[in-house]
Amino acid sequence: MATHEVTNQAPPLIGYDVFSADAALVEAVQRYGGRSHLDELAMLGRMAGSGQAQQWATEADRNPPVLQTYDRYGNRIDEVGFHPSWHRLVTAAVENGLHAAPWREPAGAAGHLLRAAKFYVWSQVEAGHGCPISMTYAAVPALRADDDLAAEWEPLLTARHYDPGLRPASSKAGVLAGMGMTEKQGGSDVRANTTKAEPVIGGYLLTGHKWFCSAPMSDVFLVLAQAPEGLTCFVVPRVMPDGTRNVFRLQRLKDKLGNRSNASAEVEFDATWARRLGDEGRGISTIIEMVSATRLDCMLGSAALMRRAIAEATHHCTYRRAFGMVLSDAPLMRNVLADMAVESEAATMLAMRVAAAVDRSADAGGPQANTDAAAETGTEGEFLRLAVALGKYWVCKRGPTLAAEALECLGGNGYVEESGLPRLYREAPLNSIWEGSGNVNTLDVLRALRRSPAVLDAYLAEIGLASGADGRFDTAVKDLLQSLADLDGMEARARRLAERMALVLQGSLLLRHGNPAVADAFCASRLDQDWGHAFGTLPRGVDSAAIVARATPEIPD
Ligand SMILES: Cc1cc2nc3c(=O)[nH]c(=O)nc-3n(C[C@H](O)[C@H](O)[C@H](O)COP(=O)(O)OP(=O)(O)OC[C@H]3O[C@@H](n4cnc5c(N)ncnc54)[C@H](O)[C@@H]3O)c2cc1C
Repeated sequence: MATHEVTNQAPPLIGYDVFSADAALVEAVQRYGGRSHLDELAMLGRMAGSGQAQQWATEADRNPPVLQTYDRYGNRIDEVGFHPSWHRLVTAAVENGLHAAPWREPAGAAGHLLRAAKFYVWSQVEAGHGCPISMTYAAVPALRADDDLAAEWEPLLTARHYDPGLRPASSKAGVLAGMGMTEKQGGSDVRANTTKAEPVIGGYLLTGHKWFCSAPMSDVFLVLAQAPEGLTCFVVPRVMPDGTRNVFRLQRLKDKLGNRSNASAEVEFDATWARRLGDEGRGISTIIEMVSATRLDCMLGSAALMRRAIAEATHHCTYRRAFGMVLSDAPLMRNVLADMAVESEAATMLAMRVAAAVDRSADAGGPQANTDAAAETGTEGEFLRLAVALGKYWVCKRGPTLAAEALECLGGNGYVEESGLPRLYREAPLNSIWEGSGNVNTLDVLRALRRSPAVLDAYLAEIGLASGADGRFDTAVKDLLQSLADLDGMEARARRLAERMALVLQGSLLLRHGNPAVADAFCASRLDQDWGHAFGTLPRGVDSAAIVARATPEIPD
């Protein structure tokens, strides 16, 4: 006999369509040319919202990867064992083309947009396995620096088959890629890399280490090392064509705050076989093609994380009652939820606008999202050059604050692992750290601005499209222009400047394309600064009820 009846608990948020329930995302896909892909996205959305996918996510997170340095006989094998649910998550991602589809099947003019929307939807299930997926997507444009290497690897990287296990690439139906830049003495300043590359007949031998090398069971890595002419990018396979193992010693796996389903290793190279990608001494400009694409995914990942958090929070507050009312009807809770929903929508709109710019600039020869070559590929390339750095900084920065507040909306239940919110909370800081930590990205904003006046022109043209739509926005633009004209102490002000530029860009997008209630609340709080330092401080007069209703996912009865 039960001793008590369970009441006033929200049902689990499962059995819904993660894509179709996200109005800002659906509108963005339609706006940027993805209308014909709505059914495909809804199918993935239903899969992402299923109890099955949630179970895979929990199992992959709760059963972290295990390093297997030696086999039973004492032979060094340097493998990592994963829970079957990790493999199921990666399989779903690869079969849906999240890892590289736009490079192989352009999907009309919206291939990168479609892939971005899918990545955003599927990341909401579990973020850790997105790491090798992103790196594989990002490796392809960098590999195109060398026709032979691209011809060898691209068909396998873009295949829709996940074929785990260390075997020669030629015997596999599909492969994944990773990246090795960070060393003990520096990750932001990779010019300080000490790994040496010695030229030999037909390639190079690398000796040194990498301090963070994620997804070490991937098949191929883009690695930086010092060649005779300077820092150079190399292609390092884990298994040699004849089936023997390349030297790729996994010293340890990192015991990480979040992202626990994914393995991040410390690696030692000792006469490790490598092939050069791009010219000697041009390592950074070669690998930046990969970095730029992963920066886009950091932004998408953080926008997705915020969306998942707000979906959980609004869902819970729709069912939970306190002091005689449903929580989402309590004026103060409604303010908290609406404020977070505004943040989440603004993040989604910015991330999808940037993804659309990848498609548009791809016409000019590739995504080049963060390279200075982008500044020469027409207005969208110039816009992209700046928008990736701005968006990576700002959207990723907002994740941890929002995740903490969303967790609190569930009260004590939100602090308990089973709710899924602790996983989001632990994951949230990561996207701001890797692929250029916060400061590094804002310094990159300054770099892009200094490199070419056309970059600023492209940004101003984009925000100018909302000119006159709202007085608060117009004033914010005027203030921003004054900040941009003041060159004194620019480096120390880089975060402040990047934040304002990102907010004005988000405001412009919301005013032109967003929900009117969301756009109004954004202008009042983020641009007019009638706002506090915590979520839940939207000013009087905003339509919080409409904003919360729009953000709340409906689950079938
Ligand atoms: C889970 C995880 C997985 C990772 N996976 C990989 C991987 O697969 N491959 C890989 O190569 N790397 C990987 N990294 C490493 C990551 O990219 C680096 O940690 C990151 O680039 C920062 O480098 P760092 O740790 O050496 O910090 P540092 O470079 O020492 O930076 C420390 C702080 O100083 C700031 N800073 C640096 N320079 C300046 C400056 N001039 N002005 C102001 N502030 C500055 C940075 O923003 C940062 O906040 C991973 C990291 C994590 C946490």
